[in-house]
Parts: sequence; structure tokens; C-alpha cells
Amino acid sequence: MTTKKRIIQAKTGVERECKGWEQEAVLRMLYNNLDPEVAEKPEDLIVYGGIGKAARNWESFDAIVRSLKKLEADETLLIQSGKPVGMFKTHPAAPRVLLSNSVLVPKWANWDHFNKLEKDGLMMYGQMTAGSWIYIGTQGILQGTYETFAEIGRRHFSNSLKSTVTLTAGLGGMGGAQPLAVTMNDGVVIAVDVDSERIQKRIDTKYCDRMTFSLDEALEWAQEAKEKGVPLSIGLVGNAAAIHHEIIERDIHIDIVTDQTSAHDPLNGYVPEGFSLAEAAELREKDPTRYVKLANESMRKHVEAMVTLQKRGSVVFDYGNNIRQVAKDEGFEDAFSFPGFVPAYIRPLFCEGKGPFRWVALSGDPEDIYRTDVLIKELFPENEALCRWIDMAQEKVAFQGLPSRICWLGYGERKKMGLAINELVRKGELKAPIVIGRDHLDCGSVASPNRETEAMLDGSDAVGDWAILNALINNTSAGASWVSVHHGGGVGMGYSLHAGMVVVADGSELAKERLERVLTTDPGMGVIRHADAGYELAKDVAKEKDVVIPMSEK
Ligand code: NAD
Repeated sequence: MTTKKRIIQAKTGVERECKGWEQEAVLRMLYNNLDPEVAEKPEDLIVYGGIGKAARNWESFDAIVRSLKKLEADETLLIQSGKPVGMFKTHPAAPRVLLSNSVLVPKWANWDHFNKLEKDGLMMYGQMTAGSWIYIGTQGILQGTYETFAEIGRRHFSNSLKSTVTLTAGLGGMGGAQPLAVTMNDGVVIAVDVDSERIQKRIDTKYCDRMTFSLDEALEWAQEAKEKGVPLSIGLVGNAAAIHHEIIERDIHIDIVTDQTSAHDPLNGYVPEGFSLAEAAELREKDPTRYVKLANESMRKHVEAMVTLQKRGSVVFDYGNNIRQVAKDEGFEDAFSFPGFVPAYIRPLFCEGKGPFRWVALSGDPEDIYRTDVLIKELFPENEALCRWIDMAQEKVAFQGLPSRICWLGYGERKKMGLAINELVRKGELKAPIVIGRDHLDCGSVASPNRETEAMLDGSDAVGDWAILNALINNTSAGASWVSVHHGGGVGMGYSLHAGMVVVADGSELAKERLERVLTTDPGMGVIRHADAGYELAKDVAKEKDVVIPMSEK
């Protein structure tokens, strides 16, 4: 990893450096991923999620920028694990960029092999939206986290999280959404992180209310807020493997427990118990094998605490970081006692083709996003939860980098919104084009047996074909602006395959056609994937919305 300090800032305004808005959109989203407001460690090209990077190294970054500036509207640039490797003439409706990140042949798909290749400069970890240039900061996961906690409130408490205490860990790029998601649901949360700077970043960006280094103080604040029934988020500096056991020893009742440390990457994402950040960094460098062993042992302890809290009555769920698998591999047989968040709370949404739809104003002007906020409420006035979400997001979400918005939309809805945005651009109601994309954590774009495809009805959890088909239908056929295929996002090497897409609404007729196709096929993959697995809801949605499934009953 290079030590050269560079600062990349999101680019705004209507002056272009590239030959067309589509290419300019790619460039601006790459810059945006690395803006210090957006990325976790931009000096190392790390965007979020452990070592999720935007480019392999600075040389590759510069070459990508140069290539994008040269790229014609009928050419396609190829990116192999963060490095530009080729540029071909294709056609205007083809993607401008195709990316493949961290993909290893299955037999070699483990961290040891990946780390070796990375060290040799041959690969980079793309996470999900880091290497595919559609990360928008912590807001990107906020609505999903908010909806998950709202569902917990409906299912297990009296319709909200009022007077409940949630215990979690990890306040990084994605995990940082947790405190705000809990307080938006009126709850109290103690979020543990070993790194006080990460907590401070959440406070600066209005995701977290307060920070303390003292467990006593955190518990006192939490108890007081719980009794008063007021929302409060507390960032507690400490190591979750130790703190959770301390809470158990003190016999404190916790209502909800989850975790978003970067457990998916034992070497770079999880700090072993008893180590300061500096000591951890030193050991990681000097003796990576010992580091991984200690991190894995701590994670086992961490999961043991989560299971104990579950036995004592807490609602416990895995939040997509593969921590249960690590504990199981460490010999903890009960590691999977608590469910993953997808089978527990999200799968019905996936059956309807719903997922995290996001859009970004390339102008950099927040007014462009506020105009689309009005638009979405006009388009879906009957969807009260969505309208409430937009109001809340306007009030509570501070933009990081380019202004953006996220909300969960389903099959049919995404196309409607995409076309309406394109129309606003065409009419000149927005200052510049809008980029439309999504997380790889979506209904039809990911195979991840410990997360998105955990406990599928027909046992097809590990079938990777769906992620590949998603990428193929979105790029070769439908014509997204950039399309990515990744391995190992969310849960680490060997545990997932997933695809991403981004499409640019520049107001043109061609954009209209591409948006219509991409925003149909993409959520459509979610509907057919879940119908194929036997989910009645997905079959009903397919019938109702005329999604063609060749072998479904007539
Ligand atoms: P990140 O790497 O930016 O942050 C991880 C945080 O965990 C850091 O702040 C780190 O200091 C902290 N940490 C590490 N070890 C710790 C320990 N022992 N005790 C307390 N804190 C510790 O990662 P991120 O982007 O926030 O993602 C977190 C995890 O969630 C990843 O595994 C990621 O793959 C997963 N993820 C889940 C979802 C979802 O929808 N549920 C979405 C994206 C990512």
C-alpha cells in the first residue's frame, strides 16, 4: 500500500472533463468514493468495509482517470480488480465501464490466497460499492438499517424501539448508520468501537449523539434515556469481545443485540481483544498469522456473548458481517443460534423486487436532490412509509460528498422513478444529470449463503448463477452505464458473489431507453430468483406484474 498522501475531492458543477456526461458520471463517482467526507481511509484508497477499495493503487487510479477522460461514447473501459486493463470499441448503448473485482477461482477463494495476490499487486478487495464506484457514505445503508430496526419494533416491541436499549459494535462506513437508525425508531443504542476517531466521524456527520470511554457512563446514559423514553445514541470506545462480557457479568438487560464490526476480514477488519489500535497495526504487519488467530478467538468470544444475551431474552441477529461463521470455524457449535437479518426481516421485500435504490446529483447542488424528494412523494403518495422516510432523511441526513438519496423501491417502482428523474433532467429542472444505482446487497444480484441468500426455501443458498445472470442481463442486454461483478463483499472471501449496476439519467432519449430496460431487468431478477426458489409472494408478484418465468405454472 502506498504511503503517498493524496486528497481527492468530489467534483461538482456543470463543466465536464470527459467527452460525455456518462463518462463524466463515472469519473465523478470515482472521485466521490474517495472524498474524505465519504471514504473511511481515502489516503489508502479505502472506501469502507474493512479494506474495500476504489482502485488498486494510485498509479491505477491515475490511469483510470486518464482513460475516462479519453473514453468515447461508443467505447467500453475494462477494470480488473481496481486496475484499468483495456478499452474497446463497443456501441453507445453498451456500458462505458465493466468491472470485475476480487474474483478468484473457487478452489483458491480464501483470504490467504487473496492476501498473497494483493501483496503482489495483482488484486484488490472491492467490497460491494467501493470498487464499483457507487458508495454514497453512511446514508447508503441507513434506510435498510432503519427499516430493519422498525420491523424489530413491530415484531418484538410495541411498534417502536421507545424505551429499548440496543447493543452493537462497529461504527465504520456502514455500521455507522446503526445509531441514527435506532434513534430514528425512538430507541437507545450503545455502539462499541475500538477506534474513537470512527465514533467522532459519526458524531461529526450527525449519525451518533455522544461518545464516552467509560462503560459505566454509557450504561448510566442509556438507562436514563430508556426511563425517560427518549432516543439516544452512545458511541462507546472499547473492544466488543470484552465489553459484551462485562455487560453480561453485570447482569444488565439488553433488548436488541447485533454487530457490524468488519468480521468478514479477520486480518484487517477486527481488532483482537486486549490490543490498542497501534499494537494491532504492528502485529498485523509483523505476524499476520498470529493476528488472524487472535482476531478469530476474540470473535468466538464476541459471538458467545451474543448467544448468552439471546438466552437471557435479547432479540439477537447477525447484521451481514459473517461473524457467526468465524465463531463456528473456531469450534463454537451454537454460533448460528441467532438468525441473519435477511431471513429474519428482509426476504419478503426481496420477493417483491424491492431493494436499496439510490441516486446522486452530479451537479453537487443539494437542491437537485430536494427536487427529486418532491418528485418521489408525487409519484408514490400512497406509500406512507416512503414519504415519511423522505421527510426524515431530509431532516436528519447530512450529505457526504455529492448529495444523494436512498430508498427501497420494488419492481415497477424503480423504472417509474428512473424515467421521471430522466424527464426532470431533460426539462432542465435539475442542474446536471443524475446517477442511479444500488448496493450489491439487493434482491436479485447476490449469492451469499450467510447473508442475502441464507436459508432459501429450496436450499439454493450457494447457487452463484443468479449473480452472474444479473450482471449479464444488466450489461450485455439492458445497457447500464457501468456494471460490476465482485467476489467476497460483505462476508469475505469464499462466501459471496454479487453484481452491481449504475445507470446515468442525462435526459437523452437513449438514456430513457436504457433506464427503462435496466430498471426493469435488475429488480426483475429479484422476482424471478425468489419465485424460482418457491416463494409464493414472488410468484404472485411475477403474475401480477407480467414478469415472464418460462416454467412457472399457468
Ligand atoms: P468498516 O471497516 O468501515 O468498520 C468496521 C468498524 O469495526 C471499525 O470502525 C473498527 O474500528 C470496528 N472494530 C473492529 N474490531 C472491533 C472490535 N473488536 N470491537 C469493536 N469495534 C471493532 O466496515 P463497515 O463498512 O462499517 O462494515 C461493517 C461490516 O458490515 C462489514 O463486515 C461489512 O461487510 C458488513 N456490511 C453489512 C451490511 C448490511 O447491510 N448489514 C452492509 C454493508 C456492509
